[in-house]
Order: sequence, then structure tokens, then C-alpha cells
Amino acid sequence: MQRMRIGPEERVFVLTGAGVSAESGLRTFRDQGGLWEGHRVEEVATPEAWTEDAARVWRFYSQRRRDARRAEPNAAHRALAELEQRLDDRFFLCTQNVDDLHERAGSRRLVHMHGELFASRCEFSGPGAGTSACASAPFPDDALYETEEVIAHCTCGGRIRPHIVWFGEMPLEMERIEREIARATTMLVVGTSGAVYPAASFVHWAGPRARRIYIGPEEPANAAAFTEIVPGRAGEVLPGLVEGA
Ligand SMILES: [Zn+2]
Repeated sequence: MQRMRIGPEERVFVLTGAGVSAESGLRTFRDQGGLWEGHRVEEVATPEAWTEDAARVWRFYSQRRRDARRAEPNAAHRALAELEQRLDDRFFLCTQNVDDLHERAGSRRLVHMHGELFASRCEFSGPGAGTSACASAPFPDDALYETEEVIAHCTCGGRIRPHIVWFGEMPLEMERIEREIARATTMLVVGTSGAVYPAASFVHWAGPRARRIYIGPEEPANAAAFTEIVPGRAGEVLPGLVEGA
């Protein structure tokens, strides 16, 4: 496939995953057999880890913030931002990535279904916080918290936690995502394994007449659900694919 044609009535839904961030040098648990610089997922990215040792969790996410600050958007991020410029509100981006590289490339119509690295919130707020939940909202935050003493507190007394969807927590903005998928005529899935749910289901939620295109160096686990598979790195394939779309 050389180039994607988007008609004037068409709507594009894009899902991006870890492969897109990896091309900017940001790694994930999956890249490294479940270990990230010696940490297991259960030690740093679960509600249980937070209860057990909040400072350890924050040291991990503080390092992720440092890494993300140094990273730069790549050609895939830029190609998607340019496509959004052309399609405006007929474009929607859902990312599984928590870094801000899509925003820094210029994307605006996007949701971070797994949360945002550069936002924090009260530990008693947000989805799954329970009946005594705090009503405070997530806020932009690029601070580094390396010890228990420096972890900021909410006015309710709760500690400030990363605005990240940990393993075992509910993804964010699912109603909006479902709505956008239902009206999309083209779905582009980029650099994601097709093995993490619910994101791996999105291609099945698209209407049967929607084009469903996968882009990535490896065939995804859910390859059979796509109408087209474009092998290759996102940064190499996407710019040509969406040029003049
Ligand atoms: Zn609070």
C-alpha cells in the first residue's frame, strides 16, 4: 500500500502503542521481558505497589519523567499531527502511551487511555477511588518525587500519585473512545502488540465496512482482524502513507 486516500466524508481513528514511543527511545515493560531497569511490573505499576511503598513507585515514575523529557517526537508522531491538521474533527487519536510526544508533535484531538506521565492526582480521586473519593482533578505535574517526605499532599490529606492507569485499574475515557470508533471509516493501529485488552479489541469494535490498517515491524496477535497489514517501523511507514491523504 503506497498511500491512504481519505474521502471528504470519512473519519479516521488512530490507536498508537509502545512501538511509537520506542522509536523515540522510550522503553516499556514488554520490550524487556516484564522487567524495566530491574523492576517488575508488580513492584512499581500496581495499586498494591503504591500501598506498599509509594516512594519506590514515585522514584520509578520520576525516572520515566526524566527519560521522557529527553526524548523527542519522531516522524510517526509528526505524520499523525499533520494528518490531524488536514482532517480536523474527522480525526481522533487514542494512545496507550503515557508520554507527551504526540502533544509535542502538535496533536490535539487525543486521549491517553492509560494516563499521562506529566500529570498527577490525589490518590483518593479518579476512577476506582471508592465511595469516600476526593473530587479534586488531575493536574499537570513534571515534578520529581524521590522520597516519601517530598511526596505532595492533596487538601484532603491524600498523597499525590501519578495519573497513570496501573495494572488492575480501568482505562480512561472508554465511552468517548467507543463513540469515536463507532463512527470511524478508517482505523489505523500503530506499533501495538494486539495482546493488551481492551485496546486489542478496538479493531473488532470498528464497523465491518471500516478499513482496518495495522502498521508495525511485527505482526500483531490480532492480525486476522485487519483488512491491511503494513510491515515496518511507524516512523518510516506513516509519513508516506498519510501524505496527501
Ligand atoms: Zn484529595
